[in-house]
Amino acid sequence: MKDLKDYENLNRKENLKLASKVVHGAEGIDPATGSISFPIYQTATFKHSGIEIRDPYNYSRCINPTREELEKTMAILEEGTRAFAVNSGMAAITLVFSLLKPGDHLIMSDDIYGGTFREVNEVLEVNGIEHDSIDLSDLDLLKKTIKKNTKMIFVETPTNPMMKVADIEKITKIGHDIGALVVVDNTFLTPYFQRPLTLGADIVVHSGTKYLAGHNDVLAGVVVVKDSKIGETLEIKMYIYGAGLGPMDSWLMLRGMKTLALRMDKHNENAMKVANWLRSQPKVEKVYYVGFEDHKDYEVTKKQTTGFGGMISFKVDSTKTVNQILLKLKLIMFAESLGGVESLITE
Ligand SMILES: *Cc1c(COP(=O)(O)O)cnc(C)c1O
Repeated sequence: MKDLKDYENLNRKENLKLASKVVHGAEGIDPATGSISFPIYQTATFKHSGIEIRDPYNYSRCINPTREELEKTMAILEEGTRAFAVNSGMAAITLVFSLLKPGDHLIMSDDIYGGTFREVNEVLEVNGIEHDSIDLSDLDLLKKTIKKNTKMIFVETPTNPMMKVADIEKITKIGHDIGALVVVDNTFLTPYFQRPLTLGADIVVHSGTKYLAGHNDVLAGVVVVKDSKIGETLEIKMYIYGAGLGPMDSWLMLRGMKTLALRMDKHNENAMKVANWLRSQPKVEKVYYVGFEDHKDYEVTKKQTTGFGGMISFKVDSTKTVNQILLKLKLIMFAESLGGVESLITE
């Protein structure tokens, strides 16, 4: 186990833009050899250097240098104090939900990632954790939904698929007034476009599978926290669950993230063109895209993000049109997931 001080002394390279931070990481190079590509420490365990000596590395379920480099890089990018890289976005969300106890109440976005919804309904509910799913773009509704035992507000913004936007800063104020933790699933925008911890949120979760890794070749999840006490709790839970991301997958993520800024800018540019084009099509009834100036929460988007991302949903006139689109598309593939260099579509 590494000393927390290591995180406090993170070389944040504060003068760098995010586009350079993703390239240079935390350590960036291998401190042992100078290797420019951070090595894949493909090992399950580490040799002890003596009795009663606490070596920094002991066993890869607890700590692994490649995963640690990824975690520190994510802490830098999201401006948190600690990060945890785990086996999938769902593992990251599970780790965060493990902070709740029976009798607690959770408020979450109504239009939320399907896996998160399933976990809340099939696991949390069974374990005595209550919840309400609401439209978090409606702050009055949020205030009305709060209960004495509300311990967490889980925000996804923008939401999938309806592209609803929630005001992170305002939700945080409401949440903190009642002592609840505010968690933001930042998968869609990544720290390149949105940094929830700087807006007041306590925890950020990611499906690293998507834009962060960016090449549809790895499953990963990340949790980033602001408070080091929560970090200590999650660290222990991560060891217990055995959820830590493997060295090879950690490296793939570090490798993918080097081009995050370039990819996000291009996704942003292309999505704007596609959304406008879709809007002009006679068989398209409605396009949901946060970059439209007439989007209900365009002002909130402008305030809290520096880009619109690459996600679009749209409604067409009939099921027949849906089938025609899915089967006739040439470049865009009909497949689950998002955020990779290939463009995907799903119904
Ligand atoms: C994909 C996704 C998840 C789950 O991530 P996995 O890596 O598939 O486990 C969670 N939240 C959002 C917004 C997602 O898109």
